[in-house]
Amino acid sequence: MHPSRQPLALPPELLALGEFAFIDVETTGGNPLADRVTEIAVIRFHADGRQTRWQSLINPSVPIPPAIQTLTGISNAMVRDAPEFFAIREELCALLDGAVFVAHNARFDYGFIKNEFRRVQEQFSADLLCTVRLSRRLYPTERGHGLDALVSRHRLGHFERHRAMGDCEATAAFVQHASEEHSPANVAAAARALLRTPSLPPHLPPDALANIPDGPGVYLFFGVNDLPIYIGKAKHLRERIRSHFSSDHMTMNDARLSRELRRIEWRPTAGEFSALLLESELIKERMPLRNIALRRRERQGFLDLSDDERGLHLEWCAASEAKDVVPDRYGPFTDQAAAKRWLMAAAREHRLCDHQLGFSRPRHAGEPCFARQIGRCHGYCEDSESRDRYRQRLQIALASKRLPAWPFPGATIFEERDIEHDRVDLLAFDQWCSLAGGARLPFDGDVFRLLRQVIERSPEAFRPFA
Ligand SMILES: [Zn+2]
Repeated sequence: MHPSRQPLALPPELLALGEFAFIDVETTGGNPLADRVTEIAVIRFHADGRQTRWQSLINPSVPIPPAIQTLTGISNAMVRDAPEFFAIREELCALLDGAVFVAHNARFDYGFIKNEFRRVQEQFSADLLCTVRLSRRLYPTERGHGLDALVSRHRLGHFERHRAMGDCEATAAFVQHASEEHSPANVAAAARALLRTPSLPPHLPPDALANIPDGPGVYLFFGVNDLPIYIGKAKHLRERIRSHFSSDHMTMNDARLSRELRRIEWRPTAGEFSALLLESELIKERMPLRNIALRRRERQGFLDLSDDERGLHLEWCAASEAKDVVPDRYGPFTDQAAAKRWLMAAAREHRLCDHQLGFSRPRHAGEPCFARQIGRCHGYCEDSESRDRYRQRLQIALASKRLPAWPFPGATIFEERDIEHDRVDLLAFDQWCSLAGGARLPFDGDVFRLLRQVIERSPEAFRPFA
């Protein structure tokens, strides 16, 4: 033990948030899905002031690359006779159980631990406290927040760096030091904000938020009866569900949900896409009381441009009615008012005609619109601009909102894969809409936007729907 270092301890203000398990892992590389753990160290701070220290080398069952051996000092020879993860899983699980998972760059260590558990067919999830984020929050003007930077900046002492216990001690020493420098209450407040500690809805059992998985999926909130009061989708189920009840961010709707909530269900999916589609499907089927998303979706629509005997005009088309493929379609807009706001801005920028856009109506044929009177309209209303010329300018003004043509010859299939959880969902689409049982569902702006991104990123992931 180095003489300049004081014994590790955390203030009670911090432990009031929960027991803290500081953890560090050494690995064979940087990818939690492919690389393996070679060493784990844990220091758990118990509520009663006790500390449990545990460390073990782990046999990764794969060779450690030479560069990593040099960095960590953990060689193939050292791990040859070490236990495999399987052999220590129960001990580790007991050590981490119910504690906040604290680590420097916590997503890294968490990803590795989760995957080691997954390889032995077990689920692991915990609340994360990342000390990189804690350092950024407490010392916003500092630039480096790596462990080396923290150790030297705060003179935390000497640690056996790049070995699990050394890094784990350094991380705990940083939190201890910050509590002395900033006051325990401030550090606890920062940690609470990062943890977003949820206040448990009053009618839920105490462990209701404990075992929610991390992956993408759809969640359902139930009140007193068997009808859901809310259905939502998430990229990270656990984080999203808990965020409904974290005191900092609770909205009116969340506060009401919290009071009414009696039971939570979730359905994991292979990805964000499947979650989005399953959410729409469940919302349509179950009609939850508090779903604003549904009402919002029902107001979406397009502006269709047509040029016929009634003249050149734009017409609102609700997304739910937008079944046919129309060549001159613009949007989607969140609602008719949003479409009008957008159009008014475009009209100013592109010097369009107020009468033609329907913002005003001529009292007699050929009466100039207001924009014309102030010299902004080019005179389509007075026939001083030709219909062809005006149509061209209008199409240019609307171009950024033009609904793109469906890029495939027909319906298409997309496989959404979740490698981590070994799950595949098959999704079918046509004309920017999802298909269910062969029928095209109403246009949904969320589906459209996500679909467009995914097609742009990996068009090869789509194949014809035979
Ligand atoms: Zn005009």
